[in-house]
Amino acid sequence: MSKTDDNVRERYEELKASGLALDMTRGQPSDEQFALSNKMITALGEDSYKSKSGMDCRNYPGGVLGLEDAREVFGPIIGVPAEQTIVGNNSSLSMMHNVLSWLMLRGACGVEEPWFGKSVKFICTVPGYDRHFTMLESLGIEMIPVVLGDNGPDVKEIQQLVGNDASIKGLITVPQYNNPVGMTFSDEVVIELADLQPKAKDFTIIWDNAYAIHDIEKDNERVKNILSCCRDLGCPERAIVFSSTSKVTFSGGGLGFMGASEANIKYFQKLFTSQMICPNKLEQLRQVKFFEKLKGGLEAHMKEHAKLVKPKFDAVYEALDKELSGTELAQWSKPKGGYFISLDVPEGKAKKVVELAAEAGVKLTPAGATFPKGEDPEDRNIRISPTRPPLEDVKKAAEVLALCVKLA
Ligand code: PLP
Repeated sequence: MSKTDDNVRERYEELKASGLALDMTRGQPSDEQFALSNKMITALGEDSYKSKSGMDCRNYPGGVLGLEDAREVFGPIIGVPAEQTIVGNNSSLSMMHNVLSWLMLRGACGVEEPWFGKSVKFICTVPGYDRHFTMLESLGIEMIPVVLGDNGPDVKEIQQLVGNDASIKGLITVPQYNNPVGMTFSDEVVIELADLQPKAKDFTIIWDNAYAIHDIEKDNERVKNILSCCRDLGCPERAIVFSSTSKVTFSGGGLGFMGASEANIKYFQKLFTSQMICPNKLEQLRQVKFFEKLKGGLEAHMKEHAKLVKPKFDAVYEALDKELSGTELAQWSKPKGGYFISLDVPEGKAKKVVELAAEAGVKLTPAGATFPKGEDPEDRNIRISPTRPPLEDVKKAAEVLALCVKLA
């Protein structure tokens, strides 16, 4: 063992002995970020239960599409007019699950051949979001991983797969400030995806734009509108876009929403109507009222989030740069938005790094979580979620992580 190795081990042991208990497992906002939205809690008063049009939000009527006022506020976040927006309850993930379940049971708009009972496969970009994988697995959908490059997935590779196999029914991905890679798909990739020629006539793109307005840097990125591309290319029903305010206001206490073609909205409206009378309109009204009163609007609100988030991302880069740059031991993303940094370590070492960090009191997302079934074939990728812990903890955790990469 060289002197430098000794020094790394010594520093690691010192940090280990200092009794750290740091958690960087999940992408959650910090308490300071939540505090930015505390006024939402009291945004409704005893007498403010009517929408702009005078609808009484205490009662059932209104339908499954959501409150008109909410559809007007949230549609534009994903680039659709109110008429092409459905605002639901508190989770975009559950809306995705619902849509996929209906596709299994009833099939897609205009095709209406249920997927259930046949082999169904989905393209998943990797590294990717673990809950997408769990969702697909729970529905019995087989996953085909396609690796993300700097501008998105290799669409030629996807075309080869989907062009020959009618059981590949769709693709799921996070196109902007990707979870976990952080990159945004280029315009060309979005157009090519909209222009795919799949064998399955009901091929559906689940476009999870969860980080649609979550910038960290000033030179923000905005992914091209896939719904417009699909419409212009003559396949308007191909993509369905999802997002939520889970990381704009409160996690699990925000609103999920989806955007799609007019025909798709009508199709899912009918199906959703068999499940419920209406979403929680009072909650929708409360959030609309909060957004209306936001000083400087949503843009200013998201800038306040960025002010709290950016120093934590910078702290991770600083530690990684200091310890690992020029060593060829690791590569990491430097996203302009979103919630994650993706770290690639030498093949076969990700699990070891996560293990060493845990021994030193730093909990990281389990290695492999960014791949279907939790299996990273190269055991290389680690997702770093720096937003939730206080800045000082992020600094320490990042130092531990960098040392663990060296040790592993
Ligand atoms: N989609 C992505 C890509 C996410 O990263 C997350 C949360 O981390 C979600 C969806 C969950 O969103 P929601 O709270 O709206 O269900």
